[in-house]
Amino acid sequence: MFAQIVLNEFSRNTEKVFTYKIPENMKNLEIGMRVSVPINKSIVEGYIIKITNYSEIPDNKLKYIINVLDDYSIFDEKMLKLAFWMKDYYNCFLSESLQCIIPTGIKKGEKKVKKVKLKKEFLSKIKEDFPSRQLEILNFLSNKDSIYLSDLIRNLNVSYSSVYSLYKKGFIDIFYEEVDRFNVGEYARTKKLAPTKEQEYVISKVKDSIERGLFDKYLLFGVTGSGKTEVYLQLIEKCIDMGKDAIVLVPEISLTPQTIERFISRFGNLVAVLHSGLSRGERFDEWRRIKKGEVKVAVGVRNAIFAPFSNIGLIIIDEEHENTYKQSDFRPKYNVKEVAEKRCEIEKAVLLLGSATPQIESFYRALKNEYKLLRLKDRIGIELPRVEVVNMSKELAEGNNSIFSRRLYKEIKLNLIKGEQTILFLNRRGYSSFVSCRDCGYVPKCPNCDISLTYHAFEGKLKCHYCGYNTDMVSICPKCKSKRIRYLGIGTERIEKDIKKLFPKSKVLRMDVDTTKTKGSHEKIFYEFKKGNADILIGTQMISKGFDIPNVTLVGVILADVTLNIPDFRSGERTFQLLTQVAGRAGRGTKPGRVIIQTYEDDNYSILAAKNQDYEKFYKEEIHYREIFKYPPFTHLMNIVIYGDIKNDVIDNAARLYNIIYKTINKSNKKGYNKILGPSSAPIERIKNNYRWQIIVKSSDRGILLDVANVLNTLKIQKNIKISFDLDPISII
Ligand code: ADP
Ligand code: ZN
Ligand code: ZN
Repeated sequence: MFAQIVLNEFSRNTEKVFTYKIPENMKNLEIGMRVSVPINKSIVEGYIIKITNYSEIPDNKLKYIINVLDDYSIFDEKMLKLAFWMKDYYNCFLSESLQCIIPTGIKKGEKKVKKVKLKKEFLSKIKEDFPSRQLEILNFLSNKDSIYLSDLIRNLNVSYSSVYSLYKKGFIDIFYEEVDRFNVGEYARTKKLAPTKEQEYVISKVKDSIERGLFDKYLLFGVTGSGKTEVYLQLIEKCIDMGKDAIVLVPEISLTPQTIERFISRFGNLVAVLHSGLSRGERFDEWRRIKKGEVKVAVGVRNAIFAPFSNIGLIIIDEEHENTYKQSDFRPKYNVKEVAEKRCEIEKAVLLLGSATPQIESFYRALKNEYKLLRLKDRIGIELPRVEVVNMSKELAEGNNSIFSRRLYKEIKLNLIKGEQTILFLNRRGYSSFVSCRDCGYVPKCPNCDISLTYHAFEGKLKCHYCGYNTDMVSICPKCKSKRIRYLGIGTERIEKDIKKLFPKSKVLRMDVDTTKTKGSHEKIFYEFKKGNADILIGTQMISKGFDIPNVTLVGVILADVTLNIPDFRSGERTFQLLTQVAGRAGRGTKPGRVIIQTYEDDNYSILAAKNQDYEKFYKEEIHYREIFKYPPFTHLMNIVIYGDIKNDVIDNAARLYNIIYKTINKSNKKGYNKILGPSSAPIERIKNNYRWQIIVKSSDRGILLDVANVLNTLKIQKNIKISFDLDPISII
């Protein structure tokens, strides 16, 4: 007997599948078992992917498997099929897609995990002549809070000694982190609610598909508070009754504690919560519980899709429009919606996507009957909040130059008097600045790409970072001739300061990247506010999700334009989603909610649709723009970033790459729409020592982009230049 084996290592050279002989005394070998095998002069780990009776390679050329490392298999044939599909679909290496499936922490059961963090105060002391590996690590860490040591080593493919020498030089911190687990015993058990008519219809439809073992795909479109989560819970219960398992994906665990609580309180220890903060050992424990069948439901973020259930009936993706479902940082850059769909196909299970604001592509697919559309139209109990839009140019014209409109000021004051709580929301400011006219709201946009131009102060230019179009900075508004055209900038700190000035007696909490740096601080602020220990909570995106606080009756959006003008083709969609989500935080108890959106662009369709809470109206406008400017779902995009420490090398190589891509597309003689944009400087033009340029390829044929990916994967390129690509990126910023 022979076994085909992939080595458990990250290297292009070991991408090959090797054949080994199975010794007589090694019985019961299965696909997915971990073994050690000899190669060259060393012994390495690998996984069995096939067992055969016959090998084409002559017997005397083959070696024996040395050892079997576990008494169970790590993945079954179906999971292996998924890994092969990922390899092809995302054009990654098999070892990379297998790595997604194999549980981390398989070897040791550590209680604590080692993390790495950049000491920002030393940034200025970094020298260009550091070893390139070390510079790479510093670069990588520069825009992150902290990262698991094991992830750093794995993803950058660097050695521990490179990391350790940086630690010795004092540039980074290596520390242990204790991680909390959800303790099942702490939550009171809940029973299912009698479903409403609408809920009942949805449940019966999906249940029927699960029962019949159909590979069906549903999109559940229901406003916030319409009872989607209750539908999930009841469907899972049905699944368990049928002897099947379920996976629930949520965007981010720490931001949705209340949702997690509901799953635990309904299903107790039949649930495994796979949170990214688990230590390797804990993650492995949960993996084992699932594998042994002790658990029926896995709730988690992206990688919970790989939970090793053997009889899946249902996969739920809650808030399916969220960005976190796409892996954007590391290879394989997969979208979990696609992986889930494939897993359902392989397992004959049902996929259920849910959202109050479905992603444009998802709704498009639903309208084309690729998903079955289910709706929950009514909010349960209380009505949706009343949304008002205030034009800030008008405020200014009428003599109010505060960051609060008179309407918002009045409502905050009213809430303070009534003892009700207020949330003030401001999207985190981007890395780039857009320019806008304070008098008429005009924002300069690229004529080719319809995205906001970015102001580059140094050159005094406005640039499009999709196609490279640029023009001089304007000092007079082309629309209304006003001189008050400039870039906007307000932060959450400023809002806090002004609130304290205006309402000195109010108690204020702030939740943003600065106040949530330490572990658990997010939860702490949340519970403080929930307990009623503050009147006003000021925050960024972090507060847009999952907050269900009955006493919050007022939500103020300080400046909707910040999201609206993120230089990305999804900015309109993001704005609508965020505003809807934020608005959904108001009036969740018995008192109705009010929402005030401040903006300079009160006639923008995203803002108008958010005001009327009319998703379908928004969809109609948005899909129209997507078609005209040829963005998804009408095309596929590929974002290629070329980076390195010498600017001219980066520019030269970007130009060279452009030609290579051009030739690849021409050669492929595939028809349809194809366009290469750029090369242009990336929106973050320079991250520490690296200059970054980008090329965007648009094509109506995804196959062409895979051809391009193939070329990039095998391209020989000079040492100081790196290339990364993202196929079907969630955003290009
Ligand atoms: P969504 O997930 O769509 O935001 P939820 O499932 O959280 O909606 O439901 C909103 C609120 O309505 C929750 O407080 C929930 O407990 C309640 N609810 C949901 N379904 C029912 C029902 N059938 N009967 C009574 N209350 C319900
Ligand atoms: Zn103007
Ligand atoms: Zn452009």
